[in-house]
Amino acid sequence: RSGFVSIIGRPNVGKSTLLNTFLKQKVVIMSDKPQTTRNAIRGVLTGKDFQIVFIDTPGIHKPKHRLGEYMVNTAIRTLEEVDAILFMTDSKDIGPGDDYILGILKKIKTPVILVLNKIDLLSREEIDGIIKKYRADMDFYDIIPISALHQANLDNLLDTLKGIM
Ligand code: GDP
Ligand code: MG
Repeated sequence: RSGFVSIIGRPNVGKSTLLNTFLKQKVVIMSDKPQTTRNAIRGVLTGKDFQIVFIDTPGIHKPKHRLGEYMVNTAIRTLEEVDAILFMTDSKDIGPGDDYILGILKKIKTPVILVLNKIDLLSREEIDGIIKKYRADMDFYDIIPISALHQANLDNLLDTLKGIM
């Protein structure tokens, strides 16, 4: 089993933390400056029976000018080509930036796993509420609450990813 996975989400939701944990080394280039990086391979996770190539997809935010529009379109094309998308949010801080990304994902056929990160900062009830809201909003492949920092529920996320491939 092998496939390409794109991790997308607003700055500071925990994308680099998750990738670094998966890859167990600091291979992620810390560039959160929007519109400065192109799509790039950020790391390869090789297990006993699988291989996942993580793709960085910058530029998914409301474009402010023509170049921005070009970047967004490039990013969208990448999202259409990967095998799975991890859409990552900061469960404690969901807002318009997340809604913008969600709007784009709704137009794409690639399976999307909604990753609710930072659940260490929320109660069980709050997490359930967020899951319920998102479930009504879009047909996700799955919704998985995690803590990238505290490495909670990451096995479940990985198993779900492997299930797509
Ligand atoms: P990125 O911009 O999406 O790559 O986000 P980073 O991985 O750089 O994380 C942004 C901040 O959120 C950092 O201070 C992380 O330590 C923190 N963070 C990441 N995951 C978690 C989590 O599960 N829980 C908490 N409390 N903080 C987290
Ligand atoms: Mg980052």
